[in-house]
Amino acid sequence: MRILKDRSRRVSHLRLAVQVVFLLVIYELATIGMDKILLLLVIFGATLFIGRFFCGWICPFGLYVDLITLLRRTLRVRHRILSERLNRSLHKLRYVIALVIVSSVFLLFYMNPVLPSQAFFEFVMRLQFYPPFRYLFLFLSPLETLILPFAPPFGAFFELQGVSFSFPYVGEIAALFYGSGLTFPIAFTFVSLTVAASFTFRRFWCRFCPTGISLAIVNRFRGFRWAPLLHLYKVEEKCTKCGICKRVCPPQVLEVYEKKGGRIETSMCMLCLRCVEMCPYEDCLKLELAGRTLFKSRNWLE
Ligand code: SF4
Ligand code: SF4
Ligand code: SF4
Repeated sequence: MRILKDRSRRVSHLRLAVQVVFLLVIYELATIGMDKILLLLVIFGATLFIGRFFCGWICPFGLYVDLITLLRRTLRVRHRILSERLNRSLHKLRYVIALVIVSSVFLLFYMNPVLPSQAFFEFVMRLQFYPPFRYLFLFLSPLETLILPFAPPFGAFFELQGVSFSFPYVGEIAALFYGSGLTFPIAFTFVSLTVAASFTFRRFWCRFCPTGISLAIVNRFRGFRWAPLLHLYKVEEKCTKCGICKRVCPPQVLEVYEKKGGRIETSMCMLCLRCVEMCPYEDCLKLELAGRTLFKSRNWLE
């Protein structure tokens, strides 16, 4: 029984290792001052081809909430499930949130009498460093590492013996409330609520995260059938409707269970492969890259 249990988590262990490696890479990129516009373009561009692989395997915030889940499992506390209706509503709400962020940024830009007359180069520079465009980098906040190569107030939550600590979105909160005295209480409330919600619900933040929203929007371009190279595939004849995939999915995606067969194309799926490693029927679920099977479900019940 223990062997079965270990086998059923081998992708989860690999994913954890990959997430940690990317966290170190992202920290290094932060130390050398990686161009944020370039980073945004790479993330959104890649999503067109590999779906939300970023969310499942790379995003540091995803790693933090997965570690919180690991802690919950170790403490043998059961997670809670959102109702299907609420879960779907949250996923739809993410489009509204994205629209509000992007339209507010451009509204602020056009309401500013100076900015629209800037030359193109200055425009791009402003996109990077100054409000209102800086707020577009809310989309990059999940990449914030817990230890920062900067000192407060430039994004760090607090400093302890020369080491700066942060948390996703705290940098943006610090920028928004700089000098108001509100940074610490707002950041503290945000971090506490986020950690508590992540302890209770699997990948809670990811259900309406602004970056997940934007990645999901890019994912909509899956209408270009040639573009997505990486996707889940279900073989209808092998599915017994056991419901395991539905139960184990962290963001409660139902399509794998409900769909009759073929490509799973929902933008709610972050390609974590938990459903594939847990589906107990040989070849029923597969991860395909450009038509080649990279990983598939195994008959681990025998
Ligand atoms: S939804 Fe947001 S927080 Fe979750 S993994 Fe994706 S980018 Fe990270
Ligand atoms: S776990 Fe596999 S067999 Fe069970 S319902 Fe999901 S796809 Fe079908
Ligand atoms: S459907 Fe499967 S691969 Fe997608 S998020 Fe859920 S468990 Fe992960």
